[in-house]
Amino acid sequence: MPIYEYACESCRHVTSALIRRGDAPASIACEHCRSTDTHRVISLPAVKLGPLNENKGKPSEEAQQHAKDQVMRDAADRVIHKTLKDMGR
Ligand SMILES: [Zn+2]
Repeated sequence: MPIYEYACESCRHVTSALIRRGDAPASIACEHCRSTDTHRVISLPAVKLGPLNENKGKPSEEAQQHAKDQVMRDAADRVIHKTLKDMGR
């Protein structure tokens, strides 16, 4: 059975309904606000998305720790250099 989608004019909620082909009413009751002021919208063919890689583009814990260590080292270096400079070498 095809899935029809109805966009509500009152609340913009889209209600999906399984309706026998050729049997789709022009409007159905909005499942959100119960308004019948809905109109059928053409539902796009389901887009097949690949498996989402949650780690993609996100540094691993190890990389984050490494970056943190690097920041600490840089900060320590700066303090040491500043101290040496302040001491007039
Ligand atoms: Zn509604």
